[in-house]
Amino acid sequence: MSSALAKVENLVEKGGNHQVVTANPEILYSALQDSELNQIIEQASLVTADGIGVVWAASRVGTPVPERVTGIDLMSNILARAAQKGWPCFFLGGAPEKAASGTQPTIPSVAEEAAVRLKRLYPGLQVVGTAHGYFNELQQAELDMQIAAAKPRLLFVGLGAPRQEKWIKMYLQRTPLPDLLAMGIGGSMDVFAG
Ligand code: UDP
Repeated sequence: MSSALAKVENLVEKGGNHQVVTANPEILYSALQDSELNQIIEQASLVTADGIGVVWAASRVGTPVPERVTGIDLMSNILARAAQKGWPCFFLGGAPEKAASGTQPTIPSVAEEAAVRLKRLYPGLQVVGTAHGYFNELQQAELDMQIAAAKPRLLFVGLGAPRQEKWIKMYLQRTPLPDLLAMGIGGSMDVFAG
């Protein structure tokens, strides 16, 4: 975890666009048959062993890694660092807001609720934007504009694997932002949102 975190810090400070993959067994197993996903993993700036099975397998094939680094733990540590360093963050993914109905008040989107709670947990954290993860192609263009206008340095994407990994790869190719580190986080935002 400490070397993964140091690597993230180095990538953010060096600049440029970077993809972080937390490789769990499902992702790695899919990559055996999915050459696009396999290429994403090979080209990522940082890949962590997300699961004890991956740590075990890495040593079996002769490329041991020191420990398990899960997506949710890495994200938590990156956010703590982001709060200290002033790196602006954008959260994408999870369920949209639910409008008020009857006696039920409006329920904020998962990403918004996660942002509120994470700002409490990491004082000083700058969340420059949030968006839910259920968008069509037309809304995709709006989302691109929303992210570009918010100018994050870190983009956390929770669309489920491997869709989020593929989305990030494509997004980093078209984004006008020159310095962006993006990471797939699966359902972590649901956890942070409670
Ligand atoms: N999700 C989304 N858009 C979609 C499908 C899924 O934003 O079109 C979100 C979903 O709400 C959940 C996350 O992606 O927050 C997927 O979580 P899951 O636990 O299935 O992913 P995993 O951690 O297994 O990759």
